Amino acid sequence: MDDDTRQALAAATDFATRVIAPQAESWNTAGSVPRAFFREAAAAGLCGLRVPRAQGGRGLGVGAYTQVLGILARECMASTFALVVHNNLAATVASDGSPGQVARHLGPMLAGESIGAFLLTEPGAGSDAQALATRATRDATGWVIDGAKAWISNAQHADVLAVFAQTAPGSGAAGIACFLVPGDAAGVTRSAGYALLGGHALGTGGFEFASTAVAEDALLFAPGAGLKAALAGIDVARMAVAAMCCGMLETALERALEYTAARPAFGQHVADFQGVQWMLADCATDLVAAQALTERATALADAGERATLAAAHAKKFATRVAFARIAECMQAMGASGLRRELPLARHLESAKIAQYLDGATEIQNVVIARALARRD
Ligand SMILES: Cc1cc2nc3c(=O)[nH]c(=O)nc-3n(C[C@H](O)[C@H](O)[C@H](O)COP(=O)(O)OP(=O)(O)OC[C@H]3O[C@@H](n4cnc5c(N)ncnc54)[C@H](O)[C@@H]3O)c2cc1C
Repeated sequence: MDDDTRQALAAATDFATRVIAPQAESWNTAGSVPRAFFREAAAAGLCGLRVPRAQGGRGLGVGAYTQVLGILARECMASTFALVVHNNLAATVASDGSPGQVARHLGPMLAGESIGAFLLTEPGAGSDAQALATRATRDATGWVIDGAKAWISNAQHADVLAVFAQTAPGSGAAGIACFLVPGDAAGVTRSAGYALLGGHALGTGGFEFASTAVAEDALLFAPGAGLKAALAGIDVARMAVAAMCCGMLETALERALEYTAARPAFGQHVADFQGVQWMLADCATDLVAAQALTERATALADAGERATLAAAHAKKFATRVAFARIAECMQAMGASGLRRELPLARHLESAKIAQYLDGATEIQNVVIARALARRD
């Protein structure tokens, strides 16, 4: 392991213990992390994890990046995902932004002063992203955006909005572009945060754009390149979700082991019952398998090889076992497993949410089934 990775993992461990663990539950109740969360993350070097060192980031590879996320998600996946969305946009601005966009956005994003969001999903278009209906029309000075976005992480605070919009209705992916729109631009309104099963630290909500005018230099990806760019980043995003699920499951298993070893029942401890031992043994096997699938996918990505299939396997499996096995760890802890001062209830909610993020489980199966048909 190189020094950069070692430092990033140490920073993540410290941030998870010092900042996330004591506040995660209150963020869930409040409906989002506070803006200060991003500034504190920036101070710990967690806002430019994939931005090259030469541009002020940590320059981590995919494997190291996902390890950092796994450590943070051990305490709270929702706040970690808020950082993921922000980090991914910072990295995209660094790699694909125009000189003007880099100069305007990158510094404030690395400092956690300006918060990023990724606006692809719409009220009428989720998995089928190329059906998006938000419209971008050229005018004399730039573009005018009209439409609505839904299910957007960081919606409560976002300052830099990566908005995917159709420039040529009826043309599908060929007309989709992406714009960097200031969150306070005229005609932008945002909804209150959605009340969900959990995961409220993410501050998920919707946006509307009513004749929102942006300059030509707001264009991040030209028509035809927008959806391709979104899909190009999705493999790593799926690996990130898988790694966060592994982190949550790891915590749940540790808590269940500690609790059952100390809890007396019928003259012994709960951990002495073979039924409980086998339940936790199955949990450990699924954790190791999910970690192995995730590491396999990230190793392919770091080697510059195609990782779409490996990412789909990892994301499908890790989200599925996290949801099932975190529930079993709670079961082993009896009623105490339900207490909200432990992270298990929060993790169970987040594991369910993870089954939709960056492509629902069924979409991973679409990817896998296509590969089977091609005999990849
Ligand atoms: C907490 C949270 C945060 C999110 N953050 C963001 C964000 O920051 N930015 C963003 O753009 N989006 C975000 N999303 C949206 C997320 O990407 C979508 O929920 C996801 O793409 C699925 O879309 P949908 O929910 O509209 O489901 P739909 O597409 O309506 O699908 C409904 C069901 O049909 C299934 N289905 C769809 N197509 C197929 C098919 N071809 N074969 C088999 N089954 C299929 C789906 O798997 C699902 O089970 C977020 C979602 C959540 C829950």
